Amino acid sequence: MKLIQINSNCYYFSGPVNIGYIHQEESGMIVDAGIDSQTMKKVLKKLDGEGLPVTHLFITHAHSDHYGGGSYLQQDRTVYTFAPYYEEAILRNPSIEPLYLFGGNDPLPELRNKFLEGNSIFVDEVLQEGAYERDGFNFTTYLLPGHSYYQLGLKIQDCLYAGDAYFSEEQLHKHKIPFLTDAHLAIQSLYKLKGIQVKGALPGHGEYEEDFHDTVDANIAYYHELIHMLRAYIEEEELVSHEDVVAHMCTMYQIKVDQLSQWLLFRTAVTAYIIALLKQEQVGYKIHDYRWVFYIKEGEA
Ligand SMILES: [Zn+2]
Repeated sequence: MKLIQINSNCYYFSGPVNIGYIHQEESGMIVDAGIDSQTMKKVLKKLDGEGLPVTHLFITHAHSDHYGGGSYLQQDRTVYTFAPYYEEAILRNPSIEPLYLFGGNDPLPELRNKFLEGNSIFVDEVLQEGAYERDGFNFTTYLLPGHSYYQLGLKIQDCLYAGDAYFSEEQLHKHKIPFLTDAHLAIQSLYKLKGIQVKGALPGHGEYEEDFHDTVDANIAYYHELIHMLRAYIEEEELVSHEDVVAHMCTMYQIKVDQLSQWLLFRTAVTAYIIALLKQEQVGYKIHDYRWVFYIKEGEA
């Protein structure tokens, strides 16, 4: 993992999941903790080698690839940990993620893997959206829901650590159906990102960019296209079950899903795009023959 300097205070470790770092005199804040202890060990080794302190941890949202290394960090160092409201409940009780993906049933053992569930971490301070001054760090948090319930972006020293509020174009095409919880909210968050005054932004997956608005626009366009394809399918079928919508979208995007955990993630993702159509009142639903089915609402464009 390469340590890249953005400005006099802001850095990031470039990797499959970026890890941010902000240096403030005798303090240093890690932004997201990577997926596991191995990743965090490498981060700490590099920071120690550069003589950079580690005193704080900020988690953008409770997905294990962003907090899985947090438990090791907290065992190895004394860090003051910030986490968003609501997400903090999952960070303290990580089995909630496999639980909600499994529709509320007790998750099967195979779902309790490091991709869905990291080790629990301590949270010292729960944050909402707002401006904060803590131990020499002055920062603003932005509520950016849609990828997770209460994700917070972190603006500090003219740099925005955006978490997974947007993805690089490469990542969008790699994921095919990017994981969202609510595509309507995700698109609103993307427009909100464009209104934040910063010199540049770093997504959770992708590179730091000064001109990140083009990438944000590509995210908006990508989600609109997905929603459009979904709507066209429902229109063609007239009445179609949730299960068939999930299968159709995964087929269209040529997604390889042979594990239950992957299928559950795509089921949630596809449902996020259905939710956008429901919120836009383009699509309606009912329970028909014991199935959750969708149809195009009359009189809608
Ligand atoms: Zn995420």
